[in-house]
Amino acid sequence: MNILAFGPNGSGKGTQGAIVQKKYNIDHIESGAIFREHIKGGTELGKKAKEYIDRGDLVPDDITIPMVLETLARSREKGWLLDGFPRSLAQAEALDKALNESGMKLDYVIEIVLDRQIAKDRIMGRRLCVNDNNHPNHIAFEAIKPVEKDGKLVCRVCGGDLNTRADDQDEEAINKRHDIYYDETTGTMAAVNFFKNVDGPKVISVDGSKSIQDVSESILSQMD
Ligand code: AMP
Repeated sequence: MNILAFGPNGSGKGTQGAIVQKKYNIDHIESGAIFREHIKGGTELGKKAKEYIDRGDLVPDDITIPMVLETLARSREKGWLLDGFPRSLAQAEALDKALNESGMKLDYVIEIVLDRQIAKDRIMGRRLCVNDNNHPNHIAFEAIKPVEKDGKLVCRVCGGDLNTRADDQDEEAINKRHDIYYDETTGTMAAVNFFKNVDGPKVISVDGSKSIQDVSESILSQMD
């Protein structure tokens, strides 16, 4: 099973992606997380990507597109849920072409719809577990609130240390990311509309302002 997940930064897309990925036992591929791994590992790709990511700009397509397509090819057998890509109409077209050429079929397009201001407020409260990217923590959501240990907040799943992302605490970077997401001409909304109109995948649009559980129930109930 292959799935594309769309939603603005702050919509809970990573959390929902992890739920769906677990249920269907497919790989969770997050373009942003792949970049962060490269940065952490000090690779050449990471060094090139860092300056763009810190500003909230898109990493150029000549770096991003091959990186994501290679990752998808490696997950071909298991199936994948792709999150964070495509983020522009150009990336959508490149992905569609690559899928057609490789014979990989897209089963679902999931879109989490959320108001821009709500998305922004949510981003600022997000915390990252240093041990596992799929351990969601958020200071404003009861269901995934970090726990307190020895006077500091730690991951609610594993007790690991928590980080914030530099680009999550920078309002200018958040605004830039949302400018890209909500752009219906060449940005991510253009990519969403592109994949809503291709033949094949079932489109699942859900209201992201609801609770984590409501959103996941709504998504899963629309899947076979
Ligand atoms: P995310 O974790 O999805 O918010 O991604 C963090 C950052 O990685 C973004 O703000 C971009 O700088 C970069 N990035 C992630 N996915 C893409 C993509 N598909 N195209 C270009 N840059 C990306």
